Amino acid sequence: MYFRYDEPLFRPPAEANSAIIQATLGCSWNRCAFCDMYSSKKFRARSFDELKPEIETLATLYQGAKKVFLADGNAFVLSANRLVQLLEEINRQFGRVQRVSAYALPRDILSKTDDELKSIRANGLKLLYIGVETGDDELLKLIGKGETADSTVEGILKAHNAGIETSVMIINGLGGKKYSLQHAVNSAKLISRVNPKFLSTLTLSMPMGEAHFKNKFKGDYIPLTVVELFEELRTFIGLLEIDGAIYRSNHVSNNLNLSGTLSKDREMLLAQLDRAIASTPGGLYHSSPSML
Ligand code: SF4
Repeated sequence: MYFRYDEPLFRPPAEANSAIIQATLGCSWNRCAFCDMYSSKKFRARSFDELKPEIETLATLYQGAKKVFLADGNAFVLSANRLVQLLEEINRQFGRVQRVSAYALPRDILSKTDDELKSIRANGLKLLYIGVETGDDELLKLIGKGETADSTVEGILKAHNAGIETSVMIINGLGGKKYSLQHAVNSAKLISRVNPKFLSTLTLSMPMGEAHFKNKFKGDYIPLTVVELFEELRTFIGLLEIDGAIYRSNHVSNNLNLSGTLSKDREMLLAQLDRAIASTPGGLYHSSPSML
């Protein structure tokens, strides 16, 4: 049986073994300064008629799959009706999977009513991946995220209220030297307000080069050294007031793999960062992987 995705295709590290259904193509926003993941694609929601035979094929190819991930960029932008129709078909074809997940922007959550979110949850979508990036309003503007700290908190809490868990991402080094401290402090504040189930940090990557990023970034970007990236992360983790969040820093972009439960493992993580700071040459700069 032959199956072909519309490339490029991205999924979170935790969805490596999931069946992936491309419910949408590209990202409906596609404007964040640091992101070129979908710059080659024009956003499009795929019709149910287009997806139905694919779901059938994938259910055969991924027999026994426990998890399904809805791609691309922010598949949660789909209306509640469309999502429920899709989830019903997934449940029919796959049998009840443990969980369905998708990337979402806070506004994709806020555009749905509480009852709609509960209905989506009842049909199996239990986790949303949200690229929060930063909790700093100035930096959110400079990167062109189209969200504020408050809209992000509101969206995440609305999902939690409907029983949908979240996995949120913060980008280490996002604002460079000038915005580093406010980025760390305000990101810790935001994360502490929402207490997600999963938290991860990625390191700012520029697969298209620094000049390309600077062109899209509306502020004064001065890159951080690897030590400064660790220090920013140390400030962020040190200020978090959360309970029971599973923290991972295992993305290909990261200089150091970290994992633990916060805030329980905070001291252990800070000690790992201190060791990394002590053993890294001061003038060393982060090099971006060629692919995100
Ligand atoms: S970071 Fe997310 S919302 Fe922003 S352009 Fe990339 S995929 Fe779209």
